[in-house]
Amino acid sequence: MTPPTSAKTSPQRAANQNLQHTPRPSADEAMEAVRTLIRWAGDNPAREGLIETPKRVIEAYREFYAGYDEDPEAVLAKTFEEVAGYDEIVLLKNMHFESHCEHHMVPIIGRAHIAYLPDKKVVGLSKIARLLDVFAKRLQTQELMTTQIADTIERVLQPRGVAVIIDANHECMSTRGVHKTGSTTITTQMRGAFKTDKDARGEVMRMVASSDIG
Ligand SMILES: [Zn+2]
Repeated sequence: MTPPTSAKTSPQRAANQNLQHTPRPSADEAMEAVRTLIRWAGDNPAREGLIETPKRVIEAYREFYAGYDEDPEAVLAKTFEEVAGYDEIVLLKNMHFESHCEHHMVPIIGRAHIAYLPDKKVVGLSKIARLLDVFAKRLQTQELMTTQIADTIERVLQPRGVAVIIDANHECMSTRGVHKTGSTTITTQMRGAFKTDKDARGEVMRMVASSDIG
């Protein structure tokens, strides 16, 4: 087993983790910031329809960014070693996710396909889905999120291969700027056998593509 090659991406990960240690403002301070943005948009935060908005926005933020309070490695920590010799591809396909782009703080909505080739350690399927959400529920770029998911699976499960394929619509592309409605972005990270073995890579790509558009 070669060691994971994820060390190269650690500065990005460290940057993301540093954010988690930034002290949070109080709820009152956060609501005041929302009022400022309402005024920036050109409206009056004191008018009746907007009075409760700051409170709703900060509650929504708790949901959108819940991933900062979770440790991705802990999510995968409970593994099963007795898998009766199962050593073929495990693929979770078409997992819907919602994230927010770190450049505009608007939604990234898409689907993720995550596969690994176990080497003794297997993890509960729901844990892979939770791992996706831990990273999705943060400010993100699609590229970094794809890498973070692959890195974490590689580090914790030490599988023979990891494949992460994300296909998403960035609302900052469709609702502002270039207004390219309907375009999606695909990012992939192939590790281990999925990177070095053409057959393994071909098999996982076929599994992702089967009876499925994109
Ligand atoms: Zn953006």
